[in-house]
Amino acid sequence: MKINEYQKLAMKTLNPELSERDVLINGVMGLCGESGEAIDIVKKHLAQGHPLDREALAKELGDICWYVAETAQVLGYDLETIMTMNIEKLKKRYPDGFSREDSINRTEDLL
Ligand SMILES: [Mg+2]
Repeated sequence: MKINEYQKLAMKTLNPELSERDVLINGVMGLCGESGEAIDIVKKHLAQGHPLDREALAKELGDICWYVAETAQVLGYDLETIMTMNIEKLKKRYPDGFSREDSINRTEDLL
């Protein structure tokens, strides 16, 4: 599946009654909520001795993707553009791949 096809299919499950403002709020709040669910799985593994539930964590990543798609959509972006923008930023930050020195000495004003 292509990334923009995912966005199109995922957005078929977006409540069409939501206003643009509500979609924006739902998107960023959903990102936080689903990230929290992902963190909780890792917390249980690291702090409570549970086996790492890889499948559950993978499903949370999918939920995060849904909210990324929603937030991108309301901003007028497709996911391929969002990902391309991110890679371009990373290429500037780490032109030769990750290095500790580049990380510590970041000078560019990149979000
Ligand atoms: Mg979830």
